[in-house]
Amino acid sequence: MSVFSFNATWQAPMERAISNWNSRPTTVFFEQLSISNNTITAGSRVYTWYGLHTAWHRAGIITRFTIDMNSRTISQDATNFSNFVTSVFAHELGHSIWLADNPAGTTANGSIMNHNRNRNTLTTPTAFDVASVNIMFGSTAFNEGSANIIPNWVILKSEEGYHD
Ligand SMILES: [Zn+2]
Repeated sequence: MSVFSFNATWQAPMERAISNWNSRPTTVFFEQLSISNNTITAGSRVYTWYGLHTAWHRAGIITRFTIDMNSRTISQDATNFSNFVTSVFAHELGHSIWLADNPAGTTANGSIMNHNRNRNTLTTPTAFDVASVNIMFGSTAFNEGSANIIPNWVILKSEEGYHD
């Protein structure tokens, strides 16, 4: 993704979301690049979502994505602001690597892609999330979690307007 620079109360938790993904055992690695089509924005939006992920795809490859963070709703609803920002941004990053929203109740272990998760506490992709990514991208690194992992929320195409 492109380099983003916000004030420290946003920058630090957003960078933590990147490192939380990168520290998990997947073959996916996120980084900020000076030249990238994938842009990250934040600001006060009139909409009800916390974060919005928009993707463009062709032939099974995401060719471009944008993530927009809504400072209005996050500031309004967060009890742990830093964790909340990290949770929302990590969720949107999940969309950028083909994870779909994970409906409530489909996993006992929780998921960063679950809209009903506690955003004030869940800031790191879970074993389910890691398994989903590795099924999509392939990996031999994943050996945690249980045999009950059914990544039926992994999608093979992306749409515009995924939100959290
Ligand atoms: Zn979402």
